[in-house]
Amino acid sequence: MSDVTFAKMKLSSWLIKQCASIGVKSPTLIQQNCIPQIMQGKDCIGAAKTGSGKTLAFALPILQKLCEDPYGIFALILTPTRELAFQIADQFAVFGKPMNLRHSVIVGGMDMVTQGQELAKKPHIVVATPGRLADHLDSCNTFSLKKIQFLVLDEADRLLGGNYDEHIQTIFQQLPKKKQSLFFSATITDTLEKLKGVTGNDVFLYEAPNDI
Ligand code: ADP
Ligand code: MG
Repeated sequence: MSDVTFAKMKLSSWLIKQCASIGVKSPTLIQQNCIPQIMQGKDCIGAAKTGSGKTLAFALPILQKLCEDPYGIFALILTPTRELAFQIADQFAVFGKPMNLRHSVIVGGMDMVTQGQELAKKPHIVVATPGRLADHLDSCNTFSLKKIQFLVLDEADRLLGGNYDEHIQTIFQQLPKKKQSLFFSATITDTLEKLKGVTGNDVFLYEAPNDI
């Protein structure tokens, strides 16, 4: 067993306790590799197969940084489907409970007005599908993404270079230049590799071995 622990990654004890309470005792390989780099402020491209713990690889450092400096909408997480958006939000909800984390899920098929009101209350974390978030950006100005510190593309290979391009462009135009960008997917594709050059920051690239 690896001697890398969550404590050694400088995660707060309340976060580590939350992990333990849901049976997350030691970090998976992608978590061991990516969390320390994200904590240091690096952008990150991480790839590992489904079920390898990618959500916590970005959620834990975001929550850690958020409790150090809560301000405005702190992190935007984009993901291709409603189901994934709710799954990610559920993990943030579990971990964010002790810090009264406010999060919003902004996906299609739900009431735009209610969502607009939620966004106006400045949730710490917004988990969204690109189409619906772009609709909000096009139609109202009750919220701003200018203060975000973290942009996460979950299932990034599915989000980039396809149907979502136009929406992603609309969203990216509203984001601040200075932010940490975290891209996670099951595989590293050419499109993902290209992101290395565009974030303007140091990018840590991690690809898990095939059999893990
Ligand atoms: P991926 O996004 O890589 O497909 P998920 O982030 O959805 O994987 O995680 C899959 C499952 O593994 C979730 O139920 C999650 O709670 C669990 N998990 C994540 N990290 C750990 C860990 N370090 N130890 C035990 N279980 C974990
Ligand atoms: Mg995932």
